[in-house]
Amino acid sequence: MERMDDANETMAYPGDGGGESLPDLCLRLHAGQMMTWPLLAENSVALASVCERAFGLDGGTVNVVFNPGRINSTKADTDPAAVARRPCFLCPENRPREQESILYLGEWLILCNPYPIFPRHLTVVHREHRLQDIRGILGVLPGLARRLSPVWSVFFNGPLSGASAPDHLHLQAVPSGALPVETDSPSVWNLKTVHEREGVVLSFGTHAGRTLLTMEGAREEPLSRILIEVVDAMERVPPTPGKPMMNLLGRFRDGRWTLFLFPRRQGRPEVFFREGEEQILVSPGTVEMAGTIITPREADFLRMNEALIRQIYRDVSADAGAVEKVLDSFREHYLSSVSCAGKCPEEG
Ligand SMILES: [Zn+2]
Repeated sequence: MERMDDANETMAYPGDGGGESLPDLCLRLHAGQMMTWPLLAENSVALASVCERAFGLDGGTVNVVFNPGRINSTKADTDPAAVARRPCFLCPENRPREQESILYLGEWLILCNPYPIFPRHLTVVHREHRLQDIRGILGVLPGLARRLSPVWSVFFNGPLSGASAPDHLHLQAVPSGALPVETDSPSVWNLKTVHEREGVVLSFGTHAGRTLLTMEGAREEPLSRILIEVVDAMERVPPTPGKPMMNLLGRFRDGRWTLFLFPRRQGRPEVFFREGEEQILVSPGTVEMAGTIITPREADFLRMNEALIRQIYRDVSADAGAVEKVLDSFREHYLSSVSCAGKCPEEG
């Protein structure tokens, strides 16, 4: 295997049609790391015995999981000053000595996450230390989701939407189908088609305090174009002032992509900021928005109930009215681009 300049890099993905598939390569990486990296092995074994409670909410499922291994990520101080002070744990010089990687398309490294939420949880980091910005992954996530299928689905946590490394561009991959939103019936979310173009369907739905945009289609190019236009619209009319906040999950199955985009308005719910026993440590990222709420403290796990789940989701989700504004802007922009491209010269 080719060995690159990063100290712990061991394998390189040969590309489409180049031999070993990406899932096979990643399964081999993970199996090897379970033998050579005690931290990963211990945390993976512990994962098998985590406690879980399933809540049925309006026909859908939300799972609450007690996972003490996630405490540092949940409590991570993502204030820019604090982030600037600490060494970046995704940069090669600070990564654990035992952590090996797969070079993906020249720019990305696939790693095993030593604090897994699900079995074989992967982190996909950019080789350069650059900001966690949605623009950096829009062209990467659909292709990665396709290549990692059918074993993994891929997700992105925005810098103020659950990412504990807002300073280093990265994606994550978890077992495909593990997150409830992937298997919820569309009726659970009351999904309504809002736009259709070149075989891609954009839909909008709500459930238990959350809002969700889905994009579904069999062709990567129009799918990516509509995703970019949705993100453009979120930048024009963000649900809260500043950079748009979001979580994005992509899966590929039976020749079709489904992208799940959760527009956000707040990084953490009100209960996170309470004092003493009133506090509940929950820091929603894609995993939580997609229906699996991680509680690293047992007391929080035991206290969780339906009303609290709805409140947490309401606190951090963009509300339906704000998402409607994004969709209005999306449509207006699309219609103006169509009319300019097709009609303006003739009319002029
Ligand atoms: Zn870094």
